[in-house]
Amino acid sequence: MDRIHLKAYGKVNLALDVIGKRPNGYHDVRMIMQTVQLFDRLTMEKIKEDEIQLTTNLSYVPCNEQNLVYKAIALIKQEYGIKEGVRVHLDKHIPVSAGMAGGSSDCASALYGMNQLFALNLKIPKLMELGVQLGADVPYCLLRGTALSEGIGEILTRLPAIPDCYFVIAKPAISVSTRFVYEHLNLQEIEQHPDIDGMIEALKETDLQGVAKRLSNTLESVTIKQHPIIAKIKETMLEHGAMNALMSGSGPTVFGIYDNLDTAKHALFTIRRQRLVKQSYLVEPFNIRKAEYATDNERRKGKRYE
Ligand code: ATP
Repeated sequence: MDRIHLKAYGKVNLALDVIGKRPNGYHDVRMIMQTVQLFDRLTMEKIKEDEIQLTTNLSYVPCNEQNLVYKAIALIKQEYGIKEGVRVHLDKHIPVSAGMAGGSSDCASALYGMNQLFALNLKIPKLMELGVQLGADVPYCLLRGTALSEGIGEILTRLPAIPDCYFVIAKPAISVSTRFVYEHLNLQEIEQHPDIDGMIEALKETDLQGVAKRLSNTLESVTIKQHPIIAKIKETMLEHGAMNALMSGSGPTVFGIYDNLDTAKHALFTIRRQRLVKQSYLVEPFNIRKAEYATDNERRKGKRYE
């Protein structure tokens, strides 16, 4: 195989709790992650020269060693002594610096792509082990679907898929530094921790209402204080039929959960009309069971990895 097309899916956090801080500055978290059908595209191909040639559709995304795709390719080349090079084009759609793990997901797909292109036969757990060196969310981006993420994000437990629903995803025209948000979080001040165990029970019972009512993100307090527009977007979603709405990760992306497609479309159009955000989408959750089928099917046809 000389060329591969990949989709790198974004995620939202249905729940995010911070439970401690390690001496090295990393935080211990407990999060319920959900992959959504909003994705970047990667095209990777082998080249003879021993180089990594990266291009993207966005001028403000770095195309050098700072890009997680570049880092993933460099790591695999080094670990497995690969002397050939790779040309990769990254077509970004997941909002950048937005709490949707876009970079981590690109990184995960690049690791997967290298494994395929160079027939390394590495299993997903091995790719996860390599990926965590590049970012705490990379192992989850390889796993995908609905999952509990603990430790710094590397301890993963698959959860039952979220019941069918729609997400309106809205990112205002501001950037948020993940580091800033974590540095300004005062663990002692957290009054109410998200009910993660309750949400897991709701997932087991296929209870969308039970999931929606437990949406909670400990980092919201820090980011919303800086950017009140996040609260305004949440409010607009709730006024327009969302079962509930929440900021994802360290923000500023907000998502609302809807059980009705027409209601979700209406909410999306309202948010666009009010010019509250720069990027907005209406997407469904990524269902790993359906996706695994698609993967095998596509692979048989020798086409793309979903
Ligand atoms: P997380 O949800 O994990 O906190 P994020 O959404 O906050 O991720 P990303 O979009 O993944 O943030 O990337 C943030 C920063 O990383 C940007 O400033 C960007 O310059 C750099 N970066 C490195 N690689 C990528 C990539 N492949 N796509 C986007 N940004 C990248």
